[in-house]
Amino acid sequence: MYDLVIRNGRLVDGTGMPAFMADIAISGNRIAKIGRIDGKARKEIDAAGKVVAPGFIDPHTHFDAQLLWDGYAKPALSHGVTTIVPGNCSLSLAPLKAEYRTKLVGMFNQIEEMPLKAFKEGVVWDWETFSEYITRIRKGLAINVAPLVGHSVIRLWVMGDAAMERTATPEEIAGMQDVLRECLDAGAIGLSTSYVDMDEKLQPVPSRYADAGEVEALASVLGEYGRMLQIVPEFYDPDLTIARLDQLAEISLKYAIPTTFSPLFVNADNMDAVNKVMKRVDEQFARGARVWPQVQTRPIDISFCFAVPSLLFIRLPGWYRIMRFGSPEQIVAAFKDPATREKLVAEAGVYTALWPTLRLRQVQTVGNQKYVGKTVGEIADARGVSPIDAMIDLSIEENLDAHFLAADMGHNSDEAVGSLLKHPRVHIGASDGGAHILSFSTYGDTGYLFAHFVRDLKAMNIEAAVKKITSETASIWGISDRGLLQQGYVADIVVFDPQTINRGEEKYVQDVPGDGSRYVRDAKGVDTVIVGGGVAWSASTGYQEARGEILPGQPVAARALEPA
Ligand SMILES: [Zn+2]
Repeated sequence: MYDLVIRNGRLVDGTGMPAFMADIAISGNRIAKIGRIDGKARKEIDAAGKVVAPGFIDPHTHFDAQLLWDGYAKPALSHGVTTIVPGNCSLSLAPLKAEYRTKLVGMFNQIEEMPLKAFKEGVVWDWETFSEYITRIRKGLAINVAPLVGHSVIRLWVMGDAAMERTATPEEIAGMQDVLRECLDAGAIGLSTSYVDMDEKLQPVPSRYADAGEVEALASVLGEYGRMLQIVPEFYDPDLTIARLDQLAEISLKYAIPTTFSPLFVNADNMDAVNKVMKRVDEQFARGARVWPQVQTRPIDISFCFAVPSLLFIRLPGWYRIMRFGSPEQIVAAFKDPATREKLVAEAGVYTALWPTLRLRQVQTVGNQKYVGKTVGEIADARGVSPIDAMIDLSIEENLDAHFLAADMGHNSDEAVGSLLKHPRVHIGASDGGAHILSFSTYGDTGYLFAHFVRDLKAMNIEAAVKKITSETASIWGISDRGLLQQGYVADIVVFDPQTINRGEEKYVQDVPGDGSRYVRDAKGVDTVIVGGGVAWSASTGYQEARGEILPGQPVAARALEPA
């Protein structure tokens, strides 16, 4: 008798081939048969009217910390995501010596916008090596995890404080190679590095002190294993991005490894730049290099309050510094001090057109509830002040607990984003799940892909969209036995309604350790999510079995994927 049978579904099997009607039988954690399944099973799911697809794979997340208190990576799993890649952008939680815990938490707080209190109250630090960290998260794991190891932490491990000051000596580079080997042996799927990020003191992260030789030396170790190198290039500048992708291409060719860079955003004002980058991507793929640009599906929305540093203010150093280094009391005092306020208002002039378009999301006092949902422009008119003054006044009145939303800040041209998403040399990803938890909700990017680009705009068909976020992702990363509905493959499966799948509205929840909050989205139209043959989540019963695994990479064949 089979353990589980899914009947009457329309199978979109991840190959890109047309959907077809069939049942799926599961024994243990594997797909035992696809066809007409007679006889009873221990458990049955009726998928009539639904699509049955391989579980989605999210290649760019920062769930490293959340996995310590939530093995489901909620709510990502409920959206149909069955495998995540944490450890991106040069940062992972291991290997890490005890004396650098505070440093790393500071970097996660600065770069990934994760609250210090969550680390303090949600994390029992009982690991140092990568393999100890893996052992730690494996308990109670419900989602599959294919973890990258971060270059910045490998550097800290080998060089100590010098990792934040200088290039490495040949001995130190050899030491980093050994540590990287240990991490890859322990299950790391690859290495991540960053050329842009700043630490909590607004200094470059350790990976940025590496010279090209160090990156090459580490890439040569990846070559021994055939594993992935992920980088954050200088994405704000197309020429620098192209220089980085040329560097990646040489590494990819020399060591026969896949590489990926993220993010790549397309906006009305940078269309030419994106075309230039994509032209070079095509040229490098034509040479046989693998340089996958990662593109996210959702437009950029940014929420913020003045109590914590926000991405939106990174180009306003006066504001950013005060949000970064000031306590809430100091920030309020700065707003109340006429001279400081004058300087801040002057600096905010850079975004004069932006402020009135922001919306007030929430406040605490009864008196200001009447403004919730209104634009800052409307509030400013009602109060007879300028928009930036209205924001400052509200923030003082609310003790900084006034939350604003900057919606549709970019990456929102349907045509441009749609054509990138279906491009055969674009890798759909960059959700940033688990990070930026008070700036935006990173969940439901897959639902948005189906709702917006497949159903509404018809930019791609459902078979192509499923392939992009399942088998293609597995092939790019060398994740074996997953990403397809195929006999013998691991049963990571999502059942969803193609007419209703979507991301829900962004909502503010308080489920982060240390009384922390974040923005999340519920899944819409997702029926059942199966991981390793067990029902991990269903719409009717919520979160269930925890059968997630650590997925080390398998050597990826040393060639580019065939263009579709
Ligand atoms: Zn990232």
